[in-house]
Amino acid sequence: MIPRISLLPDHVANQIAAGEVIQRPASVVKELLENAVDAKASTIQLILKDAGKTLIQVIDNGLGMNKSDVKLAFERHATSKINIAEDLFALNTKGFRGEALASIAAISNVETHTRTSGQEVSQCIKIEGSKIKDQSLSTKPQGTSIEVKNLFFNIPARRNFLKSNTVELRHIIDEFQRVALAHPEINFLFFNNGNELFDLELSNFRKRIVSIFGSKWDNQLVPTKESTSLAKLNGFVVKPEFSKKTRGQQFFFVNNRFIKSPFLHHAVNSAFDGLLRPGYHPGYFLYLNVDPKTIDINIHPTKTEIKFEEEQSIYAILRSAVKHSLGIFQVIPTIDFNQNTDLDIPYNFKQKTPIIPHIEVDSSFNPFKDPSFSSKQNNDEREGLLPEVNSKTDHQDIESDNIINVPQSSRFFQLFSKYIVCPLQTSILLIDQKRAHQRILYERFLASITSKTSLSQQLLFPLEVELNGQQIEEFNQNKEILLALGFQMELKNKKKLVVVGSPEHCPHSKIESIIEKLLSGENSPQSVEYLSQADQIAKTLAKTLSIKSGDLLTPIEQQVLLDDFFGCKETSVSPFNRSIFISLEKSEIEKKLN
Ligand code: ADP
Ligand code: MG
Repeated sequence: MIPRISLLPDHVANQIAAGEVIQRPASVVKELLENAVDAKASTIQLILKDAGKTLIQVIDNGLGMNKSDVKLAFERHATSKINIAEDLFALNTKGFRGEALASIAAISNVETHTRTSGQEVSQCIKIEGSKIKDQSLSTKPQGTSIEVKNLFFNIPARRNFLKSNTVELRHIIDEFQRVALAHPEINFLFFNNGNELFDLELSNFRKRIVSIFGSKWDNQLVPTKESTSLAKLNGFVVKPEFSKKTRGQQFFFVNNRFIKSPFLHHAVNSAFDGLLRPGYHPGYFLYLNVDPKTIDINIHPTKTEIKFEEEQSIYAILRSAVKHSLGIFQVIPTIDFNQNTDLDIPYNFKQKTPIIPHIEVDSSFNPFKDPSFSSKQNNDEREGLLPEVNSKTDHQDIESDNIINVPQSSRFFQLFSKYIVCPLQTSILLIDQKRAHQRILYERFLASITSKTSLSQQLLFPLEVELNGQQIEEFNQNKEILLALGFQMELKNKKKLVVVGSPEHCPHSKIESIIEKLLSGENSPQSVEYLSQADQIAKTLAKTLSIKSGDLLTPIEQQVLLDDFFGCKETSVSPFNRSIFISLEKSEIEKKLN
């Protein structure tokens, strides 16, 4: 009989194992950073080229490895961190599976230099696709430097699956921040293509959060502390009024390891009950310390999931500690629930002189010539589809900028502070004001970006915005688009953005928050993948600056909105693919009232 079962050669087994641990450059970064932490380094440098696609290098000043260890380190199941299975429940290190280096070496070219305190020279070992290519002596300082090049060179499917540099870098920044937040006692440096993204001095938890996310975070944090025999909790929650619509600032650490836990998240969420506006998420940086015996971290290869022995008690401790801290710091009475932020009109029509839309418009284009539409109408009726008042109104009159010129016989009106009702000859249009305005702004910004002819308004006083490492990188990536939009700004002293001009339709009071939004990287990587960066930015701007549901519009504001809207290239859906209007046919009304 021909034997059909055979043991896989090591390099094949390693490659398969690598698939689980190493999904993208960010996974390599996570493993290398964690190894450097485990080696008790006090300074760790992360150096990238092309978001890790060309190079990922981590240099630490930790314990280093001796000659025999360095070879073993790249074997599968080789670890210095556990010896017996019981050790799994007394873990004080990040690593324990002994498979990260073997996996990385199976799918890339790795060059390692390492030296322990006792050695005079460093050991150098070069491995390509699990094969040792060279082993020699070198003269590097104490600690370890690992360079990873050509990631996934032998797995083209994985390599092709990698996203744009912007997206991959975002994933890396996420991993970097998680390790750096867990270890304020370590000095971290982070460079991509020679640009310094982070230089984090050793500090405490609070300062580390602030140096990663920016100084204005300092007064947004509420300390949270609890100590029980089961667990020690330390850290901060973000004051409810600074909560965000995205889940970006949610960090849980268990024994200094970043953990994803829907269960613990739920506990914090419930402590915020009643404190957050709908659609907003709590921000938190919480550090839980428990006896390693009471948790199981070995349930997922990437070690970001965890099982607690006393799940219910941990939940209760967390919830009450967060509630307590929110109460103690009197966060609750400071929120004004009556304030309707939607009424804070960002896009100020009142200061705007009505203008004919300045995007290039196909003047012969009538959105209602859409065949699906026209099939229902005869020609005469379709003529009547252009808003009646619009046709009666002379643009020149509006341009001469006077409310008196608004036709008194306006037949359109605002309904529920949300829709513009526009009666036509044989139907009524109900236009969603927010979506219509998003469409107008979106087309305008997109036109500015592509034609690079946007108008910019000079600011009376330059505005300074402090950027964190991620924002600096986003700025570098998107500089050209932002300039095309009409932002005039430059980076000073590596960290400060000085803004001297802004796009024409951007109110001064909104500039800072808009810049922060544009540079937040909060647009989910998946969505960015399908859209060009310019499109994404035009969308973000349109969303931020548009009038909202609930905004009361004067007749002239309604007029401008309609004029601009009917000049749009696309009128059926908003930039976010929502219907902008519905049309009620006279015949339908008659049928209903029959
Ligand atoms: P694990 O971290 O799970 O033990 P790895 O494959 O990540 O497995 O690393 C294997 C071994 O190599 C570690 O147990 C450690 O002894 C050694 N090692 C890896 N990186 C470093 C480093 N930066 N400094 C010192 N030793 C290291
Ligand atoms: Mg490891």
